[in-house]
Amino acid sequence: MKPRTQLLRILIPAAFVSLCLCSANCRMTQTSETQNVNTSRASSSADVDALSIHRRAIAIDMHADTTQRLVDENLDLSNRLADGHLDAVRMKEGGLDAQFFSIWVEPQLYGTGGASATRRADVQIEAVRALAEKHPDTWEMALSAADIRRISAEGKLAALMGLEGGYAIDEKLENVERYYKLGVRYMSGAWSVSTSWAGSSGDEAGRTLGLSDFGKQVIREMNRLGMMIDVSHLSDKAFWDIVNTSTKPVIATHSNARAIADVPRNLDDEMIRALAAKGGVVCVLFYPAFVEPGWDEKKKQVDTEISSLVQQASDREPGDVAHKKMARDRVRIVEYAKRLPPVTVARVVDHIDHIVKLVGIDHVGVGSDFDGIQAVPSDLSSVADLPNLTKELLKRGYTEQDIDKILGGNILRVMEEVEKK
Ligand SMILES: [Zn+2]
Repeated sequence: MKPRTQLLRILIPAAFVSLCLCSANCRMTQTSETQNVNTSRASSSADVDALSIHRRAIAIDMHADTTQRLVDENLDLSNRLADGHLDAVRMKEGGLDAQFFSIWVEPQLYGTGGASATRRADVQIEAVRALAEKHPDTWEMALSAADIRRISAEGKLAALMGLEGGYAIDEKLENVERYYKLGVRYMSGAWSVSTSWAGSSGDEAGRTLGLSDFGKQVIREMNRLGMMIDVSHLSDKAFWDIVNTSTKPVIATHSNARAIADVPRNLDDEMIRALAAKGGVVCVLFYPAFVEPGWDEKKKQVDTEISSLVQQASDREPGDVAHKKMARDRVRIVEYAKRLPPVTVARVVDHIDHIVKLVGIDHVGVGSDFDGIQAVPSDLSSVADLPNLTKELLKRGYTEQDIDKILGGNILRVMEEVEKK
């Protein structure tokens, strides 16, 4: 919990700055600022309640891919960015206190192991650490639940790291501890391409691959170190092997419910029950393909329609493989918005509702996947819109205490449990 004085410290200067801007500045600024506030931020009294809950509660997002932007676009996250989904300014607007930055090694570009995968992870870790080094008044690295509580109480933003896909450990057990020491606090065994030791939900190998003996050693090592185990992206078989191997709670940092959107990336009810029984948390993500039934099928159709547009953008881009990927994604963002049906926060909350009805309020959290997705719900277009999630929860009768747990309390509990030696 944060003291109310802190809330006033944030709100009073913000109100003063807005007043100055509106009275002294040109009409264009006034109009665009006002529209922005009215369309994507709090305006009615219900909105204000949602925002004040965000200001008071500790809100943690378990997964964003902004890290690759830090490296490939050399962005300064302390400024409001014109595109993308996350920066320090919008985090403060949305009352988001802590962000887990995904350290993502794309296997198609950097391999499923070896020096290239390790280097790609290491450069991202350096970029996240540089946030706090360059802007110590805004950011601080957090390594524990206690760190998040303290940093949040000081009115700063907590930066944390999770390794998405275990490619960077290069099939060496000692590298798990190396990444723990570098500050990584969760890891998944695979992204969309299976490793030799963990099956993915995204490829053929994952249909039969769970955890190998080495994979089980990795899980035990993570338990020993106090690193959280993430099952998002893994094959069903790997999921069950992990749940049966780990002695500590297990989390899904960005996955939804298959009962609503039936895709392999989501979890079925039996999996959600098993995760909850171990004390874990399912953090819902905002990507429409995993939120809205049928959207993923429609997206595949659109991908076929736009394939030459995407290829042309990639060919025109003179930069390296990462920049070519960014060029392809820019086309997808525009075309998906034009060609696919809009999705709203209400459908995201349907997933939360489903999980809560299944296993109770203590096993759900938030893992946006912001900056890693080429489409977002219309009313969750960046971290600044997070109070819209809370507004929808309030509308459905969730109490403030419930909402505190969903926004961050449940994850803090798991972190504390996993940190115990
Ligand atoms: Zn992911």
